[in-house]
Amino acid sequence: MKIKQSEFVISAVGPAQYPEDGLPEIALAGRSNVGKSSLINKMLLRRNLARTSAQPGKTQTLNYYKVNTEVGELYYVDFPGYGYARVSKSQRQSWGKMIELYLKDRPPLKLVLQLVDFRHPPSAEDQNMYQWLSHYGIPMCVVATKTDKVSRSQWPKHSKMIRQTLGMPGHVPLIHFSSETGMGREELWSLIAQSADM
Ligand code: GDP
Repeated sequence: MKIKQSEFVISAVGPAQYPEDGLPEIALAGRSNVGKSSLINKMLLRRNLARTSAQPGKTQTLNYYKVNTEVGELYYVDFPGYGYARVSKSQRQSWGKMIELYLKDRPPLKLVLQLVDFRHPPSAEDQNMYQWLSHYGIPMCVVATKTDKVSRSQWPKHSKMIRQTLGMPGHVPLIHFSSETGMGREELWSLIAQSADM
């Protein structure tokens, strides 16, 4: 996919700040350090557009990036990373509320990319997120990150581990991605373009 332009738009703290132009939105969820910023940068071919915040887990905002591609415009919506140990219970709750509010009532949302680390079994929080998305019937795919760190011979074993731990039916796509090598970039873009009807 060719990217004509990409820019950070807003760190939204609530619905009043979400864009109103109706462009399709692709949301990204995953625990801190899973490789969310790296994936966004790779997809948009930018070196440093998305950055890991200095205090992961503390920024309770939805970060909007506007992307102009050869086939049309859309937003990437980066959720705050979860699973960061040093956040308080109330911060965790406000995270949950904000995400729930967004996911339950956001017509421009076309697809959620749930990122999981290819090396390890999905965490309890990954499983919760997955179940929640499935429960609400939100279109989603699972993106396994850091695949360059797993030797090819181990791929079937790790793919099976992820599908089984999350309880993914065969029709839910599992995309193998690496921000290091660019593997999975075109596959993910095809799915995004298809989901966003571009
Ligand atoms: P975030 O907290 O989810 O935004 O995670 P980052 O994108 O900041 O990545 C966390 C760490 O994992 C950084 O040191 C990245 O360089 C590294 N990383 C992210 N994606 C990959 C990948 O595909 N391959 C490898 N080898 N390292 C990665």
